[in-house]
Amino acid sequence: MTKINLFGLSLSELSDYFESIGEKRFRAKQVLPWLYQKWVTNIDSMTNLSKDLRQVLIQSAEINTFKGMTKKKSRDGSVKYLFNCFDDKQVESVFMPMKNGYTMCLSSQVGCAQACSFCMTGTMGFIRNLTSAEILGQVVCMLRDQAHDRPFNLVMMGMGEPLLNMKNLEIALDLLFAKTGFNLSPKRVTISTSGHVKNIERLSRFKPLPRLAVSLNATTNEQRSEIMPINDRWPIEALLQACRSFPLGTRDRITFEYVVIRDFNDSIADAKRLIGMLEGIRSKVNIIPFNETPELPYRQPADEDLHAFHERLNRAGLRNTIRWSKGRDIGAACGQLAVKGIKGKKRRV
Ligand code: SF4
Repeated sequence: MTKINLFGLSLSELSDYFESIGEKRFRAKQVLPWLYQKWVTNIDSMTNLSKDLRQVLIQSAEINTFKGMTKKKSRDGSVKYLFNCFDDKQVESVFMPMKNGYTMCLSSQVGCAQACSFCMTGTMGFIRNLTSAEILGQVVCMLRDQAHDRPFNLVMMGMGEPLLNMKNLEIALDLLFAKTGFNLSPKRVTISTSGHVKNIERLSRFKPLPRLAVSLNATTNEQRSEIMPINDRWPIEALLQACRSFPLGTRDRITFEYVVIRDFNDSIADAKRLIGMLEGIRSKVNIIPFNETPELPYRQPADEDLHAFHERLNRAGLRNTIRWSKGRDIGAACGQLAVKGIKGKKRRV
């Protein structure tokens, strides 16, 4: 008999399961904290359930995240994890120590269909969406491994376009925010998109609302289409309109990621256009110097150009930070995640 994986089931799916074995639906709420707050790996640890019920569960259910994992530690303290899925696909995630806790960068897909030309994941093509168990499994496996109790933030900026895996993303968000789940504040979760306008609109109706980050990287449609094919479907104007309509709390801002590539998008003219584009949107810009890798043809910007760009934004009062990626020595930096030797479909959605 195939066992049901309790990990990653939505509250209603878990309640249905309990009903199907003749139990009360509220048992689901008793089980969630074991999975997402205590990170248990076996059903027998769930001591608020009777011994008899635990025996019934053991016969028909299990707790599964990944088959295994390996990790590499960077000189800067960040750790890159490679998770092996049960179908032998692999995904990467990054655990980064920050000033006030930790940030975990999560993947949403194996590979990615978006084919952004500055990103190693884009070279893999699309293989498949991660399940909700695999999205949340990355969090629990890293927390178990790091065994820490400090506050953490999650950013969906790893492999894949999260807004093309909406169903599983929404289940994961529900469990991240549920009191009996991870009980995380929505302010601690950021969803980063390459600009899937239709699903930015769908995300804007999700409650509670996570933070939104948009991978922008260019200031004209011609330039953006050259490095991000999604721009042909949703050009900058449509993307910014969706951002303007995205509901924000009083102190919230949309993060715009701007990967700076030498002699491509690093001029003062680019900085000026960026300032104009973001006018009227409560925003902050993460300026990310391109992380060079032998497989991609781009170069990191010259220091003086990077600082001139940053200064120009400062002078205009546009909130911005230069973000040197963590984990560059272990291939864990922004745009460097990719599982070698895998080729998926070059599908663009
Ligand atoms: S930048 Fe994001 S959306 Fe673009 S190819 Fe890489 S993972 Fe996919």
